[in-house]
Amino acid sequence: MAFELPKLPYSLDALEPHITKNTLDFHYGKHHQAYVTNLNNLIPGTAFENSSLEDIIRKASGGIYNNGAQIWNHTFYWYSFKPKGGGEPTGILADTILKSFGSFAEFKDMFSKASATLFGAGWSWLVQKSDGSLDIIQESNAGNPLKNDLNPLLTCDVWEHAYYLDYQNKRPDYISAFWNVIDWNVVAKRLK
Ligand code: MN
Repeated sequence: MAFELPKLPYSLDALEPHITKNTLDFHYGKHHQAYVTNLNNLIPGTAFENSSLEDIIRKASGGIYNNGAQIWNHTFYWYSFKPKGGGEPTGILADTILKSFGSFAEFKDMFSKASATLFGAGWSWLVQKSDGSLDIIQESNAGNPLKNDLNPLLTCDVWEHAYYLDYQNKRPDYISAFWNVIDWNVVAKRLK
């Protein structure tokens, strides 16, 4: 069973001006696709031939883990966005953020700092712990919170390929724009 590049829930230019079609063409069309192609080339004849991506994330290592986790991470990232997104969450998610971070503004500041200070390539994550509370973590390279039994709610891809075409070296500008495309309803549905 071959893995496939998932369809985006919006058009390639839908996130402009925050994330441009040019970036989507490369980031989704080339980078995300390459992880899919790589994994499909790596798994035949291994124990992971019929595994789900979640199983691969929890159990695999090396190239199979890296490419499998990168497929999952990118799909999760794209599905967190919508055109004219942003604003602030409401309902249970808003309450949970308040309880864990004091305020939405404090959470936003902490998540932005975690994204900006992650050294090199990786992903910053908003996660839910087993006690229900939220936390912000940094993962290098293809790191994914499922490996540590954390429930991922939101992620920011801080690999240079995520922002270099639009913002060059200015990662903080990309992080500022990131907040304008988030679909908080999708994030809220990920709460357990
Ligand atoms: Mn990426």
